[in-house]
Amino acid sequence: NRTSIIAGNWKMHKTSSETRSFLEALKSAIADFEPNCEIVVAPPFTSIATAVAETDGTRIRVAAQNLHWEDRGAFTGEVSGPMVKEIGCSHVIIGHSERRQYFGETDESVNRKIQAAMRSGLVPIFCLGETLEEREAGKTFDVVKRQLIEGIGKIESPDPDRFVIAYEPVWAIGTGKTATPQQAQEVHEFLRTESAKILGQDFSDRTRILYGGSVKPDNTRSLLNQPDIDGGLVGGASLTVQDFLGIIKEAI
Ligand code: 13P
Repeated sequence: NRTSIIAGNWKMHKTSSETRSFLEALKSAIADFEPNCEIVVAPPFTSIATAVAETDGTRIRVAAQNLHWEDRGAFTGEVSGPMVKEIGCSHVIIGHSERRQYFGETDESVNRKIQAAMRSGLVPIFCLGETLEEREAGKTFDVVKRQLIEGIGKIESPDPDRFVIAYEPVWAIGTGKTATPQQAQEVHEFLRTESAKILGQDFSDRTRILYGGSVKPDNTRSLLNQPDIDGGLVGGASLTVQDFLGIIKEAI
């Protein structure tokens, strides 16, 4: 009975005006029915103010895609938790594989950013997942266990309603190669078991674990039917209202 979350990670897409027209269309589309899931969109920083204004009074929540681990300071080009919170975000994506791969993020910086998010009252969407090489070398469980332990270690009693984990196998991101529901489920189940060891059974039972990696309207249902998959973190298919709405409608 965990409420599903469908979150759109727009990555480096959509200006403010594109954000406005997307959200106007999404809002009017979801006004016609009662979605079964929580809906989150993560625009680039420059489109956040527009997204917050457009979604005011709706069930759509806004996430940032990153933050710095300090609240303020001499960190040119960075944005902090209090800034993201005050502008109206409820969530923040942390440790996305593209941040790890292209921007030098490590398990340690991810941990500090999760702490910063929680300190600012933001819900972290903590991303982890193995690369193709790691999967082929049979290291998937070792890798995600390390990422999980390093990511949520040192974190004191998080509220499970205000903490989200996203399993995103790197080989499935932007490739059109979705993990099969079974492949995803076995990792989700493992993450749930391991998170119980670190943060306790209640946390593990209640925390939503999202799957990300080529989620589309036609594979959403079979993924979300798995007992430990509680929603999707959607990249490419979150960029058109038609696809994103299709995924929202399939959410159970
Ligand atoms: P795609 O849905 O484009 O594969 O991206 C997944 C992702 O990285 C979401 O954070």
